[in-house]
Amino acid sequence: VIVTDVAGILAEALGSGQVAAGDSLSHDYGHDEALNVTAQLPAAVVFPANTAEVARVVAVAVEHRIPLTARGSATGLSGACIPTAGGAVVSFERMNRILDIDTANHVAVVQPGVTLEQLDKATAAVSLVYPVFPGESSASLGGNVATNAGGMRAVKYGVTRHQVLGLEAVLGTGEVIRTGGRFVKATTGYDLTQLITGSEGTLALVTEATLRLYPRSAYSATILAPFADLDAVTAAVPPIIASGVGPLMVEYLDRTTMDAIVASGRLDLGVSQPVKDVSLAFLVLVLEQRRDVRLEEDVQELATLVAGLGALDVYVLPAQAGTRLIQAREKAFWTAKAAGADDIIDVVVPRASMPAYMREVAELAGRAESWVAGCGHAGDGNVHLSIFQPDPRTRGALVRDLLAAGLAQGGAISGEHGIGKAKKTYVAALEDPAKLALWRRIKTAFDPAHILNPGSIFDQEPSA
Ligand SMILES: Cc1cc2nc3c(=O)[nH]c(=O)nc-3n(C[C@H](O)[C@H](O)[C@H](O)COP(=O)(O)OP(=O)(O)OC[C@H]3O[C@@H](n4cnc5c(N)ncnc54)[C@H](O)[C@@H]3O)c2cc1C
Repeated sequence: VIVTDVAGILAEALGSGQVAAGDSLSHDYGHDEALNVTAQLPAAVVFPANTAEVARVVAVAVEHRIPLTARGSATGLSGACIPTAGGAVVSFERMNRILDIDTANHVAVVQPGVTLEQLDKATAAVSLVYPVFPGESSASLGGNVATNAGGMRAVKYGVTRHQVLGLEAVLGTGEVIRTGGRFVKATTGYDLTQLITGSEGTLALVTEATLRLYPRSAYSATILAPFADLDAVTAAVPPIIASGVGPLMVEYLDRTTMDAIVASGRLDLGVSQPVKDVSLAFLVLVLEQRRDVRLEEDVQELATLVAGLGALDVYVLPAQAGTRLIQAREKAFWTAKAAGADDIIDVVVPRASMPAYMREVAELAGRAESWVAGCGHAGDGNVHLSIFQPDPRTRGALVRDLLAAGLAQGGAISGEHGIGKAKKTYVAALEDPAKLALWRRIKTAFDPAHILNPGSIFDQEPSA
């Protein structure tokens, strides 16, 4: 059924000041940052200001069968917030208040439109930190929850789902539920907090999140270690984790990616030319501590360990150079995009399987006559591969082979970016059909009219 007056129906529910449609609609509402998904403008965008308004929007959408797609800051990399043709976008930009920073229970309670940057400022003021930091600080917490965002600090703190203690959410029926609370444990029925986290807006609209906070460390240091090849870098990761030092970040970059971010960030890392000439891969470690003497001990221990694991040299970067390297690494996506990458995937494998997986990546890329470069969260086994192959058929087959190889290593199709619309055909082809059937039944339980972000992660009807 195609509803012709979506904007009119929504304006009747919330008032015309809270709905945009037609020529006033910015093209931004038709896409996120995914490289390989066609943009689609919605019939209307609605801007609710509170939970009751979100519930009202869902109720009229159910009544009129209007597909709804939640939108945070649209920094996602899987096309998950691209709306359905003829549907509406629910934008959370007006629900952008930090409701509480509870220093006694170490939690923040936020509306979904709060950005990471906003929360970081507020927590810094009380020497606490919300530790999940995917590379884009304009991302919203609602989007982080819905994608189960990861990022560079996950090796120490875990990903978003390890920080979400409770949610308020509007189901696809229009009912409002509250899950969890300001505590870390609950064994009280099915864990709906965890089911909604990572569901990419397909099960419920998140209207409030209770998030875990930690003490903010005052001291940090960055270690850079060039290696002769990628194999040696990835093989160094398990012993670093096993050391017990507990680094904040364990990142790898291949030579192509390092050269690109050094150029775009105008970095001078102090690596000597003879070492540069023979380095094909780099390890970056960031350490943090509450006391400077303890940080110094950790730096010494890890620097010695890394040297013994085959590093060509070990550099402890001055504070400013370290910060600039991490900022440039966060922008690796933009650098790859500017270099003309045709697609980006973020396979995760067990960290000890990374050397074997990366050898397969090189072999598959060579066989498909394609160029694959990358970097990633090596401590988590999460590799971000930029695929340079303009022919869509060759590229599609290569991506499928790369994902299948990750699954064969005991991994998963996406470590943190999600499936959205970009990877759903690979999920349909490679995932267990029994699991997909269960996902469909779960979706139907939350969203019986199938109006919440339809066509993301999987199609409701199995393809023939
Ligand atoms: C340069 C760059 C670097 C990045 N680095 C990382 C990284 O290291 N790690 C990582 O994990 N990600 C990374 N990302 C991806 C992105 O930042 C994350 O996916 C982020 O969580 C998206 O947040 P958003 O607010 O932009 O969500 P959007 O893109 O707006 O939406 C993402 C999904 O969340 C849903 N959604 C949004 N709000 C709600 C809500 N209130 N209720 C229900 N569903 C909702 C949408 O429907 C969609 O399915 C990067 C992106 C860029 C551009």
